[in-house]
Amino acid sequence: THDVHIIGGGLAGSEAAWQLAKRGIKVRLSEMRGSGEMTPAHQTDGLAELVCSNSFRSDDDTKNAVGLLHHEMRELDSIVMRAGEVARVPAGSAMAVDRDVFSAEVERALSEHPNVTVARERVDALPDSGLTIVATGPLTAQSLAQSIVGATGEERLAFFDAIAPIIHRDSIDMSKCWIQSRWNKRTEASNEDGDYINCPMTKEQYLAFHQGLIEGEKTEFKEWEKDTPYFDGCMPIEVMASRGVETLRYGPMKGVGLDNPFDTNEEFPQGRWPYAVVQLRQDNKLGTLWNMVGFQTKLKYAGQVGLFRTIPGLENAEFARLGGLHRNTFLNSPQVLDRQLRLKAAPHIRFAGQVTGCEGYVESSAIGLVAGMMAAAELGGRDWHPLPPSTALGALLSHITGDADAATFQPMNVNFGLFPPLHEVKKKQRKEAYTSRAKNDLGTWINANSEAVPA
Ligand code: FAD
Repeated sequence: THDVHIIGGGLAGSEAAWQLAKRGIKVRLSEMRGSGEMTPAHQTDGLAELVCSNSFRSDDDTKNAVGLLHHEMRELDSIVMRAGEVARVPAGSAMAVDRDVFSAEVERALSEHPNVTVARERVDALPDSGLTIVATGPLTAQSLAQSIVGATGEERLAFFDAIAPIIHRDSIDMSKCWIQSRWNKRTEASNEDGDYINCPMTKEQYLAFHQGLIEGEKTEFKEWEKDTPYFDGCMPIEVMASRGVETLRYGPMKGVGLDNPFDTNEEFPQGRWPYAVVQLRQDNKLGTLWNMVGFQTKLKYAGQVGLFRTIPGLENAEFARLGGLHRNTFLNSPQVLDRQLRLKAAPHIRFAGQVTGCEGYVESSAIGLVAGMMAAAELGGRDWHPLPPSTALGALLSHITGDADAATFQPMNVNFGLFPPLHEVKKKQRKEAYTSRAKNDLGTWINANSEAVPA
């Protein structure tokens, strides 16, 4: 007998189980590894296995958004942060761990807890009733994925991501680009001036850029990703570039219908269309993040930054995230989940971890933590008071459960672009301002929610 069924004993599922168990709630944690099943990326049967790097990234909670997330998770007694301390290895200002010690420590804490039953079993369908948390990750087993599709609709669960780089708006040099929609087309939701930032290129700039795309070092697909389909509109930019030097000029980089105000050619409107253009589109409601339209890519991260900074207006671009393309099972959360991570169509089911469209070990664990707290509040008959959007937890959660644009939703790391902006603070001091505001606001929230966060 249990109060909450958690499916998936990875990072998010383990964290959610811990949060529930320590609040006196009985949990069944179903993990398919250990029952003869495996994902293509995992190597062991251990709970909370880190499938690739052994790093939780920056541990600097004064200037870094992921470091701030560490801080907030520690404040809420995260098992991932606890076990991370036990397993910690030297890594400068980053937090890195011995992966075997880490996984063993999470597993020990959960298996020894009287409120947790770890069941080694694959779950093939969403349960019809009973509070459930689904935390089956980027490589959710096929049968369960089909059951999720049944509950959400075909278009709402993706099996691959196609991530175009995302740029902080305040790092774009607007003296070289302009805002306009192609042919000045508008919809109900359009901005007065237009919806795209246009970065124009001359022929010389375009040819050099094209060459850079072709020559840039690419990340290889993993063996089990080799059947990655290139959906319409999701083809990597460098693959499109390799089809011919003009292909991009008839695709995402076409200049037609865009009137370059920096071009003094008065002859006829076409004369002012740029030879090629890179378009950026708003990525979040706050307007702080903009994505490079059509620029999903397998170029290596280091090469992306250098090449994309050759684009006029992006010389000093700060990237909230770089482009990528991977196998990744994730929901269109802004559309299908409510603000408490519950499936709108079946609210007894919550989702947590990477399947909600966050990305990364720390982010996945953080969403598991919050899902556990929310389920505990629901079982206790208490109202859930939303986390302040100025905290890393609140900002990430707001993004995936509604603030992100559902039409272009792709997985997201935590970053300051998700936070309500502090334009009035000088750029140099802004990161510290974000983290100190977050720490204050989380402290206030914890004090006001003592039933949700027992001492
Ligand atoms: P997972 O940790 O994958 O946990 C999901 C669990 O559910 C698994 O244990 C799985 O066995 C189980 N499961 C699946 N289906 C079922 C089912 N039907 N029934 C029962 N159990 C089931 N992030 C980083 O920060 N750094 C990295 O270096 C990094 N590298 C990555 C490399 C790869 C190849 C992949 C795929 C992802 C990587 N990630 C990385 C991204 C991501 O943060 C991790 O995948 C993270 O583990 C996600 O946590 P999770 O709890 O959501 O999912």
